[in-house]
Amino acid sequence: MIVTKKKEFDGILKCLGTRKKVFIVGCGDCATTCKTGGEEEVKEVKRLLEENGREVTGWAIPDSPCIASQVKLHFAKNKKAVDETEAFVILACGLGVQSVLDNDRLSRPVYAGCDTMFGAILDKTGTILSERCAMCGDCVLNATGGICPTTRCAKGLLNGPCGGSDKGKCEVDKEKDCAWILIYNRLKELGALDNLKSVRPAKDYSKSNKPGQIAIKQ
Ligand code: SF4
Ligand code: SF4
Repeated sequence: MIVTKKKEFDGILKCLGTRKKVFIVGCGDCATTCKTGGEEEVKEVKRLLEENGREVTGWAIPDSPCIASQVKLHFAKNKKAVDETEAFVILACGLGVQSVLDNDRLSRPVYAGCDTMFGAILDKTGTILSERCAMCGDCVLNATGGICPTTRCAKGLLNGPCGGSDKGKCEVDKEKDCAWILIYNRLKELGALDNLKSVRPAKDYSKSNKPGQIAIKQ
């Protein structure tokens, strides 16, 4: 899932400038889990906008699958409110913001209500979101026992550990496990320590040339 954090409301208000009419788009998936763009947060931003003299023409919270594929449908469902608005405030990740921009035939201003942080998983306790994938386009998980060094090693080393690890913790942040110790232990469990004998070549970042684009087979 994509982790987001709320932007300061004053900053959003400043972006809106003199625009009076606003449509709010939340996200029923990742941003609801992060408590940055669910119904509660959408209603809170609506209240703040109204207290500051804006008219909220309507709001929508596209849910699973990702907001990026649901915006068009929700615009159709809320056609009158969407037609009336002068700008959009989006409480979702950058993909949500840009989906709204792409789907608005009038190309009205879109303003992000959140900062997009990273791709994460929810831990077993259901309370901690941890970064696990940077979408590098050249995945090494098959060689590292399913543990990503690109995101979990503070230096992103493909051939670790760096030598600074202490009692299994990372030298950059002693609260965090050293990714390469985790990888070593996991490969040992799997009987695959031989994976560590070959030097991994530098990542082929040409595989993640920006902007990425892929066609969906119809
Ligand atoms: S190696 Fe790349 S694609 Fe694989 S999990 Fe790590 S960042 Fe994601
Ligand atoms: S201590 Fe481990 S996780 Fe930290 S930078 Fe070195 S190899 Fe990476």
